[in-house]
Amino acid sequence: MNRSRRDVVVVGGRVAGSATAMLLARLGHDVIVVDQASFPSDTTSTHSIARSGVVQLQRWGLLDAVLDSGAPATRQVKFHALGESVSRTIRHKAGVGLVVSPRRYVLDTILAAAAERAGAEVRQGITVTGVHRDRRGRVAGVYGHDRGGAPVEIGARYVIGADGLRSRVAHSAGAAISEARPAGGATQYAYYAGIQWTGMELFVAERSFAGVFPTHHGQACIWVCTPSADAQAARRRTGSRVEAFGELLERSAPQLTERLRHARRTSPVQGMLRMPNQVRQAFGPGWALVGDAGYHRDAVTAHGISDAFRDAEFLAVAVDQALGGGAEETAALALYQRQRDQALREIFEITCRLAAYPAVSAFIELQKQLSAAIDSEAAALASWPVPGDRLLATA
Ligand SMILES: Cc1cc2nc3c(=O)[nH]c(=O)nc-3n(C[C@H](O)[C@H](O)[C@H](O)COP(=O)(O)OP(=O)(O)OC[C@H]3O[C@@H](n4cnc5c(N)ncnc54)[C@H](O)[C@@H]3O)c2cc1C
Repeated sequence: MNRSRRDVVVVGGRVAGSATAMLLARLGHDVIVVDQASFPSDTTSTHSIARSGVVQLQRWGLLDAVLDSGAPATRQVKFHALGESVSRTIRHKAGVGLVVSPRRYVLDTILAAAAERAGAEVRQGITVTGVHRDRRGRVAGVYGHDRGGAPVEIGARYVIGADGLRSRVAHSAGAAISEARPAGGATQYAYYAGIQWTGMELFVAERSFAGVFPTHHGQACIWVCTPSADAQAARRRTGSRVEAFGELLERSAPQLTERLRHARRTSPVQGMLRMPNQVRQAFGPGWALVGDAGYHRDAVTAHGISDAFRDAEFLAVAVDQALGGGAEETAALALYQRQRDQALREIFEITCRLAAYPAVSAFIELQKQLSAAIDSEAAALASWPVPGDRLLATA
């Protein structure tokens, strides 16, 4: 039996988990991250990082590593709707003038490496199967197994579930879903090479939203969001995922489909149907949730990575307070939950409305609201003190 005891064990080492672990380690805590996956590896997700998420990468000193990985800085967005195309330059606001779409196998590896550099231990290939509790019922660690099936037990003062939508930590700790909205949306995507992409493109049409996120190696992630019912109907009609994707894309963005005839698809079509829109209770005695484990929204707003980065920081500050005695545990974690719930509200509401695919004019109006909400979140994040900055400067 492999046993150890830490200040914090984080389950899940991608955008939410590694970011939280990095910040806690920078604040001086003894942190271990476990993930059943190995890095670098991909996960089902397109990967445009909104301005709010880019601000976090910059504040944490990781934006250069993301750009140096070859993820192109995107400074132009072309918006196609109602027969018109409008190009916009991304303005310099909240300290950044770009967005970026790094592949997840690159981004998540950069974050896990940053957590390790900060002093966290990152153990890959560990599957957590449950949390264990002490005699008072407080969560006091996790148990699971490694790839060879050997049992693993890690005791910790705090267990953080950053283990995604189907969080084992949430399930095992008994985290309640506090809010659930209809889960009607689907997002599907594939990678294409062989075309010069000049920037991000977005196409709005009846019951669909499609686009281009330029990424590494001259490739682009081409995606289409629709109601799940439409995606399923296309699949039934065509009989294959690739053809269904082509049909939905043709309906959403015929000009893009035409351009893609000169491109080469370099991946299978992937995606998710019936994406949940839900918020879970964020904490309990000895545990907390961050990222998709605690809050999941349809991908139509492409804001999950940025949500994870924001909430990682709220949570790291709260757990630091609780561990250091700066605040009583329940007060610190209740503040985390309040901050998260308040911060997610505006974009969650916009997401749910977009995922219901209103008429094109209403969809465009909601996109404008989304852009303003992201800008105001980015401005707020840019004004926060960076956790661990003082400690890093004196190290
Ligand atoms: C189709 C699609 C498109 C998207 N597009 C975008 C986009 O363009 N921009 C954007 O910002 N967001 C996007 N998102 C949302 C984004 O992918 C998520 O919000 C984000 O991945 C959440 O990160 P996370 O770290 O919370 O969880 P995850 O990325 O799900 O990571 C969870 C980790 O936990 C590990 N894990 C799970 N269970 C266990 C266990 N029992 N034991 C050990 N390890 C475990 C997993 O191996 C995984 O590595 C999209 C999502 C989807 C589905």
